Amino acid sequence: MTQVPKVYFGSVIPGFQRDSVSLTAKLDKIIELLDFSKIDKRDKVAIKMHLGLNVGYQTLHPLFVRRVVEAVKKTGAYPFITDNPTAVYQAAARGYTAETCGCPIIPIAGIKDRYTVKAKVDFMGVEDLDLSGVLNDSDAMIVLTHVKGHGNSGLGGAFKNIAVGGFGAPTRWHKIHPVVHYRKFFDEAKVTPDHAKKLVAACPRDAIEWNEKKKTLSLEPYVCDQCHEGEKACVKADAGKIGWQIRQETFDSFQEMMAVSAKAVLDTFNKDKLFYLNFMLNITPFCDCTGFGMPNIVPDIGVLGSKDIVAIDQASLDLIAREGLEMSTVSKIPERYTRINKKPSKGLHPFQVIHGPMKNPYRVLDFAAQRGMGSREYELIEVLSVAETQNMDMGSFAMESGPTFF
Ligand code: SF4
Repeated sequence: MTQVPKVYFGSVIPGFQRDSVSLTAKLDKIIELLDFSKIDKRDKVAIKMHLGLNVGYQTLHPLFVRRVVEAVKKTGAYPFITDNPTAVYQAAARGYTAETCGCPIIPIAGIKDRYTVKAKVDFMGVEDLDLSGVLNDSDAMIVLTHVKGHGNSGLGGAFKNIAVGGFGAPTRWHKIHPVVHYRKFFDEAKVTPDHAKKLVAACPRDAIEWNEKKKTLSLEPYVCDQCHEGEKACVKADAGKIGWQIRQETFDSFQEMMAVSAKAVLDTFNKDKLFYLNFMLNITPFCDCTGFGMPNIVPDIGVLGSKDIVAIDQASLDLIAREGLEMSTVSKIPERYTRINKKPSKGLHPFQVIHGPMKNPYRVLDFAAQRGMGSREYELIEVLSVAETQNMDMGSFAMESGPTFF
């Protein structure tokens, strides 16, 4: 009988007011269970994060990053944090330095995003992707992810972290994101400027663009919420003239490409040397690339660790679904910021309630499981749970009434 992968879970809720049962202690326990002993002495270990941009403040706290770094160092290996060059260049402004995190922070594809190697994919018109040279050089990788929503895929989880973040900028922006336009959903030959402008005006989300100079009409799927479960205003305005449609396949293209590109990254590693940690804290509607503060739309949940990338994102989504949206916050978000489905059908994931039913965040996991990248079934094992720790004898606790470090 094949065993389902284990996903270790540390809840943000401690059983008592002590550091020994806090989220850091749970992270330490999860790292112990993941077993970093498979990392060899002198291995170069990439800790792939998204450090965020500009004034974003909801990325992962350096305290947790340092715990991971210290655990890697104990194996005798050399950890380093890596992300896109702009995020690395700005990292110190948001608290990530070699001093706070405990290891160097280096750009994933060189200072100009050009240190890459070709990965052949042949998928949806894309022949190859420019894979990060730094990840390609690494012996082991810890995918350290801040879990949040995402405008294209619903979820920004472990997949998104490497499927998009593991490549140079030209690949990220000119090969991975544009696959949403690969499957045609209207007849370009029938577009007239007047009709295009009619469609642009019909969209309440500014998701349709008419380029007067190039005479091109396009959809920005990141913004489109598919008018949620109601009538599509753009399809109504078109009235069949150019055959404009809003299709599930359009949104699935990005999700399938994420499975393809993530596989290209993971295939360069020995599977024993891949580890995943997902933090479900500060769960915002959009990804950290936006570079500004956002409302947290789901209560803080905790941390997950696994050796299976599919299982960890599946468990993250399931726990978010179990928790549900923080409606006292969500109900205050103005429509100009994002339209929320106010009367969602049963069964929609919270991220579909935010981003629309066609941005089903589980789709990437279907495509990945089909490619043998992991399992959608998993065993959730909670560490240092409230039930286990609330009645433990924690000993006495003394407040810091004077300096205790000397
Ligand atoms: S489905 Fe709605 S949100 Fe999406 S492009 Fe059409 S009108 Fe805009």
